[in-house]
Amino acid sequence: MTAVGASLLEGLLAADTGHHGQWIPCGPGHLAGFVSYRAKDIDTVLGPIRLERAYCHCRQCRAGVVPRDAELGVTGTSVSGGMSSMPPPVPRYPWATLPG
Ligand SMILES: [Zn+2]
Repeated sequence: MTAVGASLLEGLLAADTGHHGQWIPCGPGHLAGFVSYRAKDIDTVLGPIRLERAYCHCRQCRAGVVPRDAELGVTGTSVSGGMSSMPPPVPRYPWATLPG
């Protein structure tokens, strides 16, 4: 069931790769040039998905810029915002792990 949801989400998110032209603004006022599309695996509340995103590089910053990651809130992580705001998993039967 969640695999279907993840598949749907993957299809929806794949509609926008974040490619907004050959050059995009970099944070500090530079321009980052489009390099290629790169895949990223992301854990979402619906399951793992794989996204192809536009990857740009800023020569001044010597750093990669991935607009789609910023839009989705997954810059530098592989966990979606929905996942990172979820509480840690709780054992379904906590008493089962208690001694005695
Ligand atoms: Zn820059």
